[in-house]
Amino acid sequence: MYKVMAVNCGSSSLKYKLYEMPEEKVLCSGNVERIGLAQGIFGIKYGEEKVSLELPIPDHKVGAKLVLDALTKYGIVKSLDEIKCVGHRVVQGGKYFSSSAEFDQHNADLIESMTPLDPLHAPAHITGWKAFCEALPGVPSIAVFDTAFHQTMEPEDYLFPIPYEMSEKYDCRRYGAHGTSHNYLADTAIKHYFGGKAEGTRILSCHIGSGSSLCAIKDGKCVATSMGLTPLGGVMMGTRSGDLDPSVMDYLCNCTGKSVDEMYDIFNKKSGLLGVSGVSSDTRDVEAAAKEGNERALLSAKLFARRVADYIGQYYVRLGGCDLMIFSAGIGENSDYFRELILKDVEEALGLKIDYKKNIGLRGKEEVLSLEGSKVKVIVLPTDEEVMIARDCLRRIENGRI
Ligand code: ADP
Repeated sequence: MYKVMAVNCGSSSLKYKLYEMPEEKVLCSGNVERIGLAQGIFGIKYGEEKVSLELPIPDHKVGAKLVLDALTKYGIVKSLDEIKCVGHRVVQGGKYFSSSAEFDQHNADLIESMTPLDPLHAPAHITGWKAFCEALPGVPSIAVFDTAFHQTMEPEDYLFPIPYEMSEKYDCRRYGAHGTSHNYLADTAIKHYFGGKAEGTRILSCHIGSGSSLCAIKDGKCVATSMGLTPLGGVMMGTRSGDLDPSVMDYLCNCTGKSVDEMYDIFNKKSGLLGVSGVSSDTRDVEAAAKEGNERALLSAKLFARRVADYIGQYYVRLGGCDLMIFSAGIGENSDYFRELILKDVEEALGLKIDYKKNIGLRGKEEVLSLEGSKVKVIVLPTDEEVMIARDCLRRIENGRI
């Protein structure tokens, strides 16, 4: 039995889950939020208990210490020595990592060198890693990359049609994201619906949350994914535009007098559902407004669905057909309204037969939505990125690699 910690560090947050492995039992989980602001929030959930405290949390080091102190304070572990490995989620693994790797100084330097590809997360990952190294000296860490699952794409799928020398020299290509989630969804679906046999399976995975991406998975391996050089690419999202005609950047900079950086920020933070609806980036608000007759909210929902449908069509062709389509993440798992809009857009072309009654109110649990005779099985499947991190920790411990 091993206890391992799955950690996800953002620029001002630290999410964590402590597992007992191999049982995959969650001993506790929580969030440290608003790190670096005047008042931070520390939260922990264990068993039936829930604690939330407001206090200044100046940096990730203090955040990590709060988490670890809480483990002994609330009797979740007797001693911190019980923790055998810390697994960190890392967004960008670039060309260097096609699987998880030991998070040592050498790999930390590589991750840091990719900051231009992920300015938002890379510094936070390094800060978080250092914080846990200091708080748990001698306990090994691993890095689990969001991009690793997508490293099996062929050049035709990951290259942009720009001068080849530029792609090479600047490592400018599609890396994708959400790989840990797509990997979990494919593995679970193969276990539940294909008797554990990956060979011959064609899966279309829709991870649709405030960040959204689709992934075409053949024989259990990624062949194409919608996010690009950064998570800005692909389908429309909560606040991100997704794919745009590249001339939109130049045109709007000229029209508005805004800089490239300002425009880039708008495409990342003020576009998507929020930008089109003018209401919210949250599908619950958008749906409510659309149902009250707000036309722009309705338009944003339809546009969102159409963008996802376009990618479904593209990946159906890329896979040479599809056996199973998965809806997951915040919207995919919880929003019957958005699932229906998307399914209505693709059902005719894909020969789907959907039980729309079953779809209504379905939230956060695995369920088959398609009926007998549907050419593609359609399911809702909750994702679990943290358990993948814990599994990678366990694999490394058992292989004696850490
Ligand atoms: P992130 O990309 O931050 O991980 P999530 O996958 O958690 O995002 O998705 C969050 C989004 O999911 C919310 O912004 C909202 O649009 C949608 N969502 C979450 N819960 C529900 C719900 N109960 N009903 C409808 N939509 C939901």
